[in-house]
Amino acid sequence: MSTLSATLSSITAGGPDGWDLHRRAMRMIAAGEPVIPLSIGEHDIRTDPAILAAMDAAARGGRTGYAEIAGTPALRAEIAARVQAQSGVVTTPANVIVMPGGQAGLFAAHRAACDPGDVALYVDPYYATYPGTIRAVGAQPRSVIAAAEAGFQPAEDDLRQAAQAGASQGRTRSLLINSPNNPTGALYSRATLEGIARVCREADLWLISDEVYDTQVWEGAHLSPRALPGMAERTLVVGSLSKSHAMTGSRVGWIVGPEAAIAALDALATHTTYGIPGYIQDAALFALQQGAGFEAGIAEPFRRRRAIVERVLARTTSVRAAPMRGAMYAMLDIRATGLSGEAFGRRLLDEERIAVMPGESFGTAGAGHVRVALTVDDARLDEALSRLVALAERLAAPA
Ligand code: PLP
Repeated sequence: MSTLSATLSSITAGGPDGWDLHRRAMRMIAAGEPVIPLSIGEHDIRTDPAILAAMDAAARGGRTGYAEIAGTPALRAEIAARVQAQSGVVTTPANVIVMPGGQAGLFAAHRAACDPGDVALYVDPYYATYPGTIRAVGAQPRSVIAAAEAGFQPAEDDLRQAAQAGASQGRTRSLLINSPNNPTGALYSRATLEGIARVCREADLWLISDEVYDTQVWEGAHLSPRALPGMAERTLVVGSLSKSHAMTGSRVGWIVGPEAAIAALDALATHTTYGIPGYIQDAALFALQQGAGFEAGIAEPFRRRRAIVERVLARTTSVRAAPMRGAMYAMLDIRATGLSGEAFGRRLLDEERIAVMPGESFGTAGAGHVRVALTVDDARLDEALSRLVALAERLAAPA
């Protein structure tokens, strides 16, 4: 085989990707073992039949040819209206491009912000694909720690320092944030977001704001940093129907940003994805038209299960949950056991047949934690958490 490009070869950097435990759990399940899977952020419900009916009707009605690459006018208008209503920032269809999922949006946003060799900042703990996405556009990922002790909120001074440190190794062009956060369940406070905005303005950075969990807010309110002063012209918001509408497999998301950036991203889409299918776009429009009540219904199981986590953990001092303000995860601090998240996760799988993600797979700030996805039914979650707590208590107890 001929040599692959350095950019492509660098995406996974050849190292472990943190998914080993999850893959082992999936093999155990395939072999018939009764493993409770709490390792992946996928709803335990499927896409609503009414959305599927809209998809089916669109496809049968002929929407199977090439579709508008940046998105149908109706879908772009619906997304613009939703984003404007939610953020208060004037948003028109020209500020919106439809993407094949939030992940493609993250890639395209970094492609828009960074040239090869540029430095792109992201916050640790992070969603697993972040550094690889940055490397996929030829940029250099640099993380900024958001410590457990600070509620996993990044500190303004650390961001400023990272922006300046990056400058000596290449131009720092962007900062990627995610609130509500996967894996930590943190919701960035107004003060955190204002600090982020100040650093972006001072260092002339693009802010790439991953808001795919914006309908899963349990405490407080989601604030889009695009609404902060001077930020609309330097923010690319990544959205998706994957989590809000249980449509992970439909691969539909978007980027909202300045008109010129969206026009440039339209050119990128023309030369890469060529847009997404018309019948998926029509189904996405239908899904969004169902309104906030429908979205609240999709989010409801996670709100309920968050209360289960709080109830089960109230009985122990060996496991502590990081504040769960949003998203479908609980980040559990198991440092009282003396084990790493990785070692605890291994024992949990081997001894209790429960699969979680080690905090270390999301970066250094997740060490000593495990991430529990609230994606099994309430009774199984309750049982799994009780067994997790029992294991932690056995390990934490003095010999
Ligand atoms: N961003 C975060 C933080 C996620 O957790 C995910 C999926 O789990 C994505 C982006 C990608 O979502 P999708 O590509 O399905 O829209």
